[in-house]
Amino acid sequence: MRVSSVFARELEQVFQKYEAVIGMEIHCQLRTKAKLFAPSAVDSGAEPNENIDPVTLGLPGALPVLNRRCVELAARMGFCLGSQVNPLSVFARKNYFYPDLPKGYQITQYDKPICSGGELVLESGRVVRIDRIQIEEDAGKSVHGGGRSAIDFNRAGVGLIEIVTHPDLRTPAEVQGFVRELHRLAVYNRVSEGDMERGQFRADANVSLRPRGSAELGTRTELKNLNSFRFLERAVSLEIIRQADVLDSGEEVTLETRGYDSKRDLTYSQRSKETATDYRYFPDPDLPPLLLSEEELQKYQTDTPAPLARVWGKLKEEHQLNSQECDQLTTTHDMVEAYLLLVEGLKKATAKQAANYLLSQGQEKGFEVLQRVSAQEELRLWLVSALDCVAEGVVRMKVLAERAEEAFGSGKSFLDWLEEKGLTQQSDEAGLEQMVNDLLAEFPDQAASLAAGQSKLTSFFVGQAMKRSKGRINPQALTQLLLEKLKPS
Ligand code: ADP
Ligand code: MG
Repeated sequence: MRVSSVFARELEQVFQKYEAVIGMEIHCQLRTKAKLFAPSAVDSGAEPNENIDPVTLGLPGALPVLNRRCVELAARMGFCLGSQVNPLSVFARKNYFYPDLPKGYQITQYDKPICSGGELVLESGRVVRIDRIQIEEDAGKSVHGGGRSAIDFNRAGVGLIEIVTHPDLRTPAEVQGFVRELHRLAVYNRVSEGDMERGQFRADANVSLRPRGSAELGTRTELKNLNSFRFLERAVSLEIIRQADVLDSGEEVTLETRGYDSKRDLTYSQRSKETATDYRYFPDPDLPPLLLSEEELQKYQTDTPAPLARVWGKLKEEHQLNSQECDQLTTTHDMVEAYLLLVEGLKKATAKQAANYLLSQGQEKGFEVLQRVSAQEELRLWLVSALDCVAEGVVRMKVLAERAEEAFGSGKSFLDWLEEKGLTQQSDEAGLEQMVNDLLAEFPDQAASLAAGQSKLTSFFVGQAMKRSKGRINPQALTQLLLEKLKPS
């Protein structure tokens, strides 16, 4: 890429003298049907102000009621980042005036967030420590145009989590890597739909520089609402270069909030940064402390998939699964574990074949099979041998997929059961040869066309053979023999 290599040269220069220190604040929209404290729907496709109600509009006397689903998703994100999920957290009011904030305050969490600590390890080995995850509500949206401004409150009150990191990142590339990884986690854990264009996943980057070798933190600026991975890397690069210029000319960096203008490709000052005292945080008197029982915590933890980025990488690279298959097999931690255990036992069959089998009758069925397999060692071993049979060409996958229940229930080995039912695939040469000869004699016109190159006709012959053999023919073997016989000698 042309542009980033331009930055690479400039950044290299900056980095000879300074170290960049970057901490992130990520706002991630929770995947729920209703808002955080109100019954209105969460639906980005709705007409303006379709999803509003007295709580959303902050009408006097309207009381917030917590949507527990938001809590569950926030806890899940915490568990998958290795955070401490706190049995007690507190909602607080963050007071400020803005037209899209009708109550005059945002409900968020302050000194007692739902999650504390945790970390995300990047591919580079960089450990990014999570400071906290807090639950909060989104604001509405101001729309400007035609000499007027209007406000759409559909998004007001939608549940978010804000994930705050320690200032552990050092380069724009690491920032991008971190946000990508976090995004993937949120989406695959079904915490968020993560649609960045719709603002469901927004990153703020806090950037400062310090002389190489210094342990102190420099003054930072906060880059707001970077809503694409590419912009994120560009904006952070530009900001690092800008701050280096400021410092080099003997001036000081101002603590402020900056935006990124993608058209002009620069960062610009928006406002001086507020401090906590500006917001007059205090516990929201309308909401009791958020308590999570031991059972709830346990349940949320069990529902949290394992370090998914790693699992996903393994399934793609080692098992050759596509994204859809990965997605479908990684709904829960348990599911992944059961799948991996099953695959480990395979001798002839590939992981891909096991996945095909599991998903052949839909994700739910596959999930159910994996649940049973993990509870029943005997079933797992049986399934391993059955999949190996399929891989050896003894029987078609279809037979296993459709009759596994019955076959396992018989108490016999899969192979014995197949033989008893006469379901093994016919690959013995004498039988095949007889079949091919019969077919060629019976359908001379089709045979001539096939010989002349109309390859579509192979499926006609396979179909006929299937019918006669009651599905026991091995289609590859049949096709091969057929074409050999038709080859001009
Ligand atoms: P605030 O209360 O202004 O939001 P926080 O202490 O909560 O400040 O920090 C917000 C974010 O800024 C965190 O991600 C943190 O890692 C990051 N941060 C704090 N100080 C610095 C700094 N000097 N340089 C870079 N990032 C910083
Ligand atoms: Mg903050």
